[in-house]
Amino acid sequence: MISAMILIAGFTLRGNAQNRNADVYEYPEIVGEFYRHYLTVPDIEGYETLKCDFHVHTVFSDGKVWPDQRVNEAWNEGLDVIAITDHIEYRPHKDIVKSDFNKSFEIAKKRGDQIGMIVIKGSEITRSKPLGHLNALFLQDANKLDVPNELDAIDEAVKQGAYILWNHPGWPNDTSTLYPVHKELIAKNKLHGVEVFNGWESYPKVMDWCNEYRLAPFANTDIHSTSANMYREKFQRPMTLVFAKERSEEGVKEALFAGRTVACFHHHLMGKETFLKEIIQRSLAVRVIDKEKNLIEVHNQSDISHQIRYGKYPYPIALHPNQVFRLNLPSGTDVTFTNCFTGQDKCLVTDIW
Ligand SMILES: [Zn+2]
Ligand SMILES: [Zn+2]
Repeated sequence: MISAMILIAGFTLRGNAQNRNADVYEYPEIVGEFYRHYLTVPDIEGYETLKCDFHVHTVFSDGKVWPDQRVNEAWNEGLDVIAITDHIEYRPHKDIVKSDFNKSFEIAKKRGDQIGMIVIKGSEITRSKPLGHLNALFLQDANKLDVPNELDAIDEAVKQGAYILWNHPGWPNDTSTLYPVHKELIAKNKLHGVEVFNGWESYPKVMDWCNEYRLAPFANTDIHSTSANMYREKFQRPMTLVFAKERSEEGVKEALFAGRTVACFHHHLMGKETFLKEIIQRSLAVRVIDKEKNLIEVHNQSDISHQIRYGKYPYPIALHPNQVFRLNLPSGTDVTFTNCFTGQDKCLVTDIW
C-alpha cells in the first residue's frame, strides 16, 4: 500500500513533463510560444484566405518590441503574414538601436523562416497631412526611401515594385479627407490600398473611396505595444483577409495588386460585396428542418460572430461562431448582415437559402 502511494505521487508530480535528462524535467504544454490560435475563416473559390497584418512597428522605430517577437505574437494569434513597417523619418530610439532601415525586417524574416510565417519588407513614409502616412510594401531596399521629398520616396518605392498603402486616413485630426495629392497618386497608379480599420479606429466613409477609386480595403494593427496589451480576445486584432492563389510572398503580392482583400476587425468585415457574399455563403451551412414551415438551422462554421436582421425583428440577432441557430425564414428572404459593410452605412444584404 505504501509503495503504491509513492508511485501515484511520483506520477502526479511529473504530470505531462518531458524528461530532458535524469535531473531536469520540462513542461512544454505551459509555454505559450508553442501554441497558436486557429482562426476559421473560409477560403473562397480558387483562393486561399490568408490572415495578414501589413502595419507593424518595432523598437527600430517607435515600437516597444523586438522584431522577432512581432513574428512570434502574430503566429500565436493565428496570422499567416506580417509586414514590418518601421517609420523612415521617426526613430526615437535611434541613438540606442543603431542600424540601417532594412535591419528590423531582416531580424523578423529570420524568425519567420524558422516557424513558417511570411514576413514582408515594408517601411512607413511619414509626413503630415495632406499626404499623411503611407506604407510601402515588398521593398527591395528601404534605405533608398530616406529622401527629403515625399513624392521622391514614393517614386523610389514604386521603382522597387512596391505596393503603396495609405495608413489611418482619419488620423490624427479625426477627419478622413481624400486630398488632391491622393487622387493624383491613384490616377498615376502609385496608391493601391487604404486602411479602413487601424488599431482600434474605423473609417467607414473610406470604404466608399475603395469602391469609387478601386482601392483595396485593409485592417491593420499599426501595433507599437505588445499585442497582449492591445487585444484581449481571439479575433479582436485587426487583420486583412487576402485571397491568394498560393501561400507565398509572391502570392500575397499578386492578390494585393489584384485587389482581393477584405478588412476584418472585432467581428466586423468591410469589403467588396462579392467577397463578403462568398465569405458568408461559405461560413453558413443551412439545414432545412421543415420546408412548409420555413424552419431551418443555420450553422455558423466560422470563428466570426455574425449579426443578422431579417423579417419582423428590428434588432440584430447573433449567429455565434460554431453554433447552430434555429429560425423561421422563407427561402429567398433578404437578410441584412449588420456586421458586414460594403460602404459607409451600407450593410451586406443577401439571402442564405
Ligand atoms: Zn502612421
Ligand atoms: Zn504606423
